[in-house]
Amino acid sequence: MIKRNELPTHYNQSPTDYMINKSKKLFERAQESIPGGVNSPVRAFKSVGGTPLFIKWAKGAYLYDEDDNQYIDYIASWGPMILGHAYEPIVKAIQEKVLYSTSFGAPTELEIEMAELIKTMVPNVDLVRMVSSGTEACMSALRLARGYTGRNKFIKFEGCYHGHADAFLVKAGSGMATFNIQTVPGVTVGVSNDTLTCAYNDLEAVQQLARQYKGEIAAIIIEPVVGNMGCILPAPGFLEGLRTICDDEGIVFIFDEVMTGFRLSAGGAQEKLNINADLVTYGKIIGGGMPVGAFGGKKAIMQHIAPLGNVYQAGTLSGNPVAMTAGYTLLKELKNNPAIYTDLDAKTNYLAEGIGKVLSKRGVNFRVNRMGSMISVHFSDHDVVDFDSASKANIPLFNKLFHHMLENGIYLPPSAYESWFLNNALTYDDLDKTIAAFNSFDQY
Ligand SMILES: *Cc1c(COP(=O)(O)O)cnc(C)c1O
Repeated sequence: MIKRNELPTHYNQSPTDYMINKSKKLFERAQESIPGGVNSPVRAFKSVGGTPLFIKWAKGAYLYDEDDNQYIDYIASWGPMILGHAYEPIVKAIQEKVLYSTSFGAPTELEIEMAELIKTMVPNVDLVRMVSSGTEACMSALRLARGYTGRNKFIKFEGCYHGHADAFLVKAGSGMATFNIQTVPGVTVGVSNDTLTCAYNDLEAVQQLARQYKGEIAAIIIEPVVGNMGCILPAPGFLEGLRTICDDEGIVFIFDEVMTGFRLSAGGAQEKLNINADLVTYGKIIGGGMPVGAFGGKKAIMQHIAPLGNVYQAGTLSGNPVAMTAGYTLLKELKNNPAIYTDLDAKTNYLAEGIGKVLSKRGVNFRVNRMGSMISVHFSDHDVVDFDSASKANIPLFNKLFHHMLENGIYLPPSAYESWFLNNALTYDDLDKTIAAFNSFDQY
């Protein structure tokens, strides 16, 4: 942090207040013309309190706000910046591509290359359709599952987020949990009646729903490793059990890999956990920081999508050349350089162990949940395995820690209900600073 050291000792505002004058002014101004001052709710810092930082630029592992403070970034734009910000090959690819126009509304060779690349990374994808966000990907995959099965209902898990399409806004994790929104005005009862929910990791509850609604369930959609109630891992046998239910009942098994895709491994959670879904949805990393999503799977299901079949789905900017070139460049790098995943794994493990040592020494109740480069710290005396156990952690303590970290130049997700995402530009020095900041916190 640049400015904290310059503070006069008698200065009686909190350092963060002093540090973010420009962000404060921008936030006031933003609220005059943007709902809540932000274009996506979690950015507003409502859960943790205080003023959201307005970011001017970023490079590698560091964010810089409008007041020129530097932060070590543990959000990575919620995942896409897995190799760090302004990653040179991506920047260059975009610069070159943009000269040839930014959109055609007609097919391009690059879209084929993108689809072919995805197929080499995810072997159970025969056909893949590009969209412009994770929301669209999940919404379309659900529609396809319904069209394919001729059934209406589907099962999702409490605390899992699948974007903001109507059907999914039931017990939908981080954003809604942050704002304590349980039912969403604007979503009709008819729509939410078709959304069945179970606790994550509760296989028996799913078995019961499958019996109760036999022949009515089109899909089970799940985050195979959850990132939207903190990082939560599937219990051994849970996903396999769901796979069996889907096979027995003719239910389409959808992995929402918007966070885990190309992050847990080049083949995503499917590869990492060695389990196949029927349909997979992508977002975040797949666009390399541009607005991209995708859904794909076996031909037998995917061929029901228009124009091949009659389940309609479309997008004016789908397969956009600039977005494709960013995503393609990043995916290719991830495919060709497996060391990225071993590096990220080692770094995340180092961080988890470092934080664990500090918190044990300080006598704090905590759980660190992690898989690959997804990690979250819960101030909890019980294991965090589902939404209920995540909510029963000490959330006010996380919120205080969040501000302490900011003051120390470390940018965590602004909610206890979010996974952190490591990027490979992080150095061990950055990780040491982060661990040290856990140690200098005096309010455990
Ligand atoms: C972010 C996210 C989405 C929604 O993606 P958007 O691009 O924000 O629409 C869907 N599913 C999961 C698991 C996500 O994390």
